[in-house]
Amino acid sequence: MTARERKRDPHQCAACGTRFAVTYFDDRRGSRDFGSALVEVPCPACGKPRSVALPVGAEKTLVVEIDEAEADEGGGG
Ligand SMILES: [Zn+2]
Repeated sequence: MTARERKRDPHQCAACGTRFAVTYFDDRRGSRDFGSALVEVPCPACGKPRSVALPVGAEKTLVVEIDEAEADEGGGG
């Protein structure tokens, strides 16, 4: 058994600007050809859905977390 690797994708809500992270387990095994699917993830702050491309099956382990890291405007990225 190998530990499941948790993926983390940063996103930013287009409506309210809240930064949040979409985390999930990539359950693909062996093959990399399963492709991805678009999943509608609601913004944790305002609820506006945002389309996020995830590996097929990952939506079952999807967790949305607000990214509370402070970021000053003008910061490089
Ligand atoms: Zn929002």
